[in-house]
Amino acid sequence: MAEPIFRYHPDPLASGSASRTDHVCSVCGVERQIRYQGPVYGEQPESLCLHCIHSGAASRVLSVPGGDGEDSGMAAMFSDVLGVPDDVPFSVVEEITQRTPGFASWQQESWLFHCGDGAAFLGPAGYRELEAHPEALAMLREDHQRYGWAPAETEQFLRQLDRTGEPTAYLFRCLHCNTSLASWDMG
Ligand SMILES: [Zn+2]
Ligand SMILES: [Zn+2]
Repeated sequence: MAEPIFRYHPDPLASGSASRTDHVCSVCGVERQIRYQGPVYGEQPESLCLHCIHSGAASRVLSVPGGDGEDSGMAAMFSDVLGVPDDVPFSVVEEITQRTPGFASWQQESWLFHCGDGAAFLGPAGYRELEAHPEALAMLREDHQRYGWAPAETEQFLRQLDRTGEPTAYLFRCLHCNTSLASWDMG
């Protein structure tokens, strides 16, 4: 059976949010080959397949009343979103938080948005991966400048970025203008 396609998380195997593992999904009870590995902000399923994330079954079954994000009328299930731009429709936020695989990060992760839409999450990235995406590096430099970091400090920090260690950057791509975007966090 074909694996579901996620607009905002095109390759969960490549990003590390899923692995190729034979398992029986706790939500649908079906034997599956791909297992979700990312965070669940709700009841913790023993095993979860991507089909159940895609269909919305997982967020219905696993959601806990009074969970995170109730103020905004929506509990985050797989990803949290902060500072969503005004031009992003609510349906996009709903799809990202409830029906898209999330990703593990050292701190609370936050999805990136661009051109009035959610961006596609590509995966964690270190300096080496980011060098292929100068716009993403520029975005991190701007972020740091805003926080008052000295340029030398920023460059040192960027060179420490590691795909599997910390600090880590998270690489996204805009689905409309194709710009590369990145966020970062530190353990
Ligand atoms: Zn399932
Ligand atoms: Zn864009």
